[in-house]
Amino acid sequence: MMRRPLIAGNWKMNTNRAEAVALAEGVAKGSGEIKNADLLVCPPAIYLESVGKALTGSSVALGAQNMYAKGNGAFTGETSAAMLSDVGAEFVILGHSERRALMGETDAVVNEKTLAALAAGLTPIVCVGELLEEREAGKTGEVIATQFAGSLAGLSAEQLGKIVIAYEPVWAIGTGKVASPEQAEEVHADLRRLLTESYNGEIADKVRILYGGSVKPSNAAELMSQPNVDGALVGGASLKAEDFLGIAAAI
Ligand code: PEP
Repeated sequence: MMRRPLIAGNWKMNTNRAEAVALAEGVAKGSGEIKNADLLVCPPAIYLESVGKALTGSSVALGAQNMYAKGNGAFTGETSAAMLSDVGAEFVILGHSERRALMGETDAVVNEKTLAALAAGLTPIVCVGELLEEREAGKTGEVIATQFAGSLAGLSAEQLGKIVIAYEPVWAIGTGKVASPEQAEEVHADLRRLLTESYNGEIADKVRILYGGSVKPSNAAELMSQPNVDGALVGGASLKAEDFLGIAAAI
């Protein structure tokens, strides 16, 4: 497999500064043991710089959880891609289901952010995923295809080759109800097919597709063994260095 797995921790709105630094130090300390995956942590934006310092000398990458699509200007309270990059972030999670649900982010907004992140040299991790009622109504494929087309509209093949996609079924996020390896693989294979059809097989083979939703050390190996699952986006379990590293060690 050409794709090197990526294990990304989404700390969400958790930790204070001291906890964030301690968590980052814990991950950095154990990261030398992880041979088969890249590691990434995404702390709250306010702690990016402190966490970046704590990661110095390790191979653990730094990412943000959100950004605004515009450059400098009258956008009170927002953070630009260039600002994230300036404090050491290399990745940015975009279109997380919590932002889609709570902050009203549409595919068009996610698309604008994705293009702005790429323009600033950040690697976007673009999240897609269906609601429980959509899955139960047999609409998963349709929902994913719509989010894929809308969130990634207008990207060149070269740009597409630089992104990461995260499949996060909304019903599995923070619920302890993980998708089965077969459920994950079905959607991941579908996403790979969409990449091939919209672009080409070479690009499709390059793009990492992460699974997210209640990943733990105990269920990671089975999920990660699926051919189209190229890593994980981890929420709850990323708040303990041991669990996060345990997921990465399961590959
Ligand atoms: C997430 O929010 O990206 C996530 C996958 O959360 P959890 O691992 O807690 O389900």
